[in-house]
Amino acid sequence: MKPNFIQKVTNWGNFPTVEKEIKSEDSLQKIKDFVSNNNEIIARGNGRCYGDASLSEHIFSTKRLNKFISFDRLNGVFECEAGVLLSDILEVIVPQGYFLCVTPGTKFITIGGAIASDVHGKNHHAEGCFSECLLSFSLLNENNEVIHCSPTENTDKYWATIGGMGLTGIILAAKFTLKNIETAYIRQEKIKAENLDEIFKLFDESEDWTYNVAWIDCLQKGENIGRSLLMRGEHAFRHQLPQNLQHNPLRLKKNRTPTIPFYFPNFVLNNLTVKLFNWLYYNKQRKKEVKNYVDYETFFYPLDVVNDWNKIYGKSGFIQYQFVIPKENGKEGMKKILETIAKSGNGSFLAVLKLFGKNNPLAYNSFPFEGYTLALDFKVNSKLAGLVKKLDEIVEEYHGRIYLTKDSMSKSSLTNYLQNVQNPKFVSAQHKRIINGQKN
Ligand SMILES: Cc1cc2nc3c(=O)[nH]c(=O)nc-3n(C[C@H](O)[C@H](O)[C@H](O)COP(=O)(O)OP(=O)(O)OC[C@H]3O[C@@H](n4cnc5c(N)ncnc54)[C@H](O)[C@@H]3O)c2cc1C
Repeated sequence: MKPNFIQKVTNWGNFPTVEKEIKSEDSLQKIKDFVSNNNEIIARGNGRCYGDASLSEHIFSTKRLNKFISFDRLNGVFECEAGVLLSDILEVIVPQGYFLCVTPGTKFITIGGAIASDVHGKNHHAEGCFSECLLSFSLLNENNEVIHCSPTENTDKYWATIGGMGLTGIILAAKFTLKNIETAYIRQEKIKAENLDEIFKLFDESEDWTYNVAWIDCLQKGENIGRSLLMRGEHAFRHQLPQNLQHNPLRLKKNRTPTIPFYFPNFVLNNLTVKLFNWLYYNKQRKKEVKNYVDYETFFYPLDVVNDWNKIYGKSGFIQYQFVIPKENGKEGMKKILETIAKSGNGSFLAVLKLFGKNNPLAYNSFPFEGYTLALDFKVNSKLAGLVKKLDEIVEEYHGRIYLTKDSMSKSSLTNYLQNVQNPKFVSAQHKRIINGQKN
């Protein structure tokens, strides 16, 4: 008979799915018992990584490590357990005039996940990764001891854990700084770019903006390759807001979020529907440039407005492929990749382009380095492994790397920035796949 806690588990891409032990505890002694009784354990936050990074033989879910510890309103310092979601933190800090220094494109991730992937946002070129605001964390390590890690204590473990994909142990709690805001709104500019030359120029011209990101239509060919829409933004000051928003600028109205109720049948999302979506998205904005004020949810988390949107890809799931290539020959590399995707006919609904700034050399397991990064969603089908192989080869040729938190099927040699994380206690399905790939 199967033990109780064996369950089907899958992350945001619904690919792969495993049937493994998943355990959640909030007492330290019980967590320690779980760790001492098992090998091949991995921590799982909210499963918003796309592939197999938080899957393993024994999964420790941090969902019960969900308590706030302290909020120093004077200095903007927050401390909480590792399973707390960014969405819960935002509800408390925004009305008090604070925001997260770095946030990814969804607020439904945990603090443990933010550290283990060292997540980046639209401000990497200006403000770096999540680790830039991290002060310290406690970690249950492979010897089943709780250690306190910071830039001055247990520094080896501190830096190995940042971007270390859960392989150094279970992060139990963390302390980090916040940034001041006057309003919950963003002053936004949206600019259309006809092609790759124009969008690259726009990124360079927008370097002084705190937030930059572009949506790119990856099915365009020939001289339209790189057709995109740049969005740049700054936290708005109160006096800049339209009159009707000025009287309560840190409060947002709660909107109801619709939910996708079931997995879409396979035929719904095909090359034609992606083409149509891309056309509508690009042409929805008639003018070349639009300036306006939007609330932070709309600017940072546009996908969070629909719950379970991952179901539109159907039951076989989807992958996200994100890479970075150095800035020097970024345009050439990006062109080659976009041509390969357009030729393959595997359209990506969501294709996001960003320009990363310089990396922090101490955070050696973090994914970003100075260059262009593109994130693409692909529905799983029989041709996908072939496309990923081709993309991996181009990324390698241009000395790039892929983002482990999105990966579910990439080539091992592109992932070799995981250092000082090997131990038999904490092992993920992804890490096993990488190690086995390196042996073959
Ligand atoms: C719509 C969407 C948009 C996204 N946008 C971005 C983006 O803009 N930038 C970006 O960087 N990422 C982005 N991501 C990816 C996401 O931010 C990361 O995958 C994040 O790590 C997920 O956190 P989680 O809490 O869901 O953890 P999981 O997905 O469960 O785990 C992710 C990794 O963190 C480890 N981990 C989790 N908790 C702990 C813990 N307590 N101790 C040790 N290790 C732990 C896991 O072992 C695993 O390796 C996006 C994801 C989605 C779905």
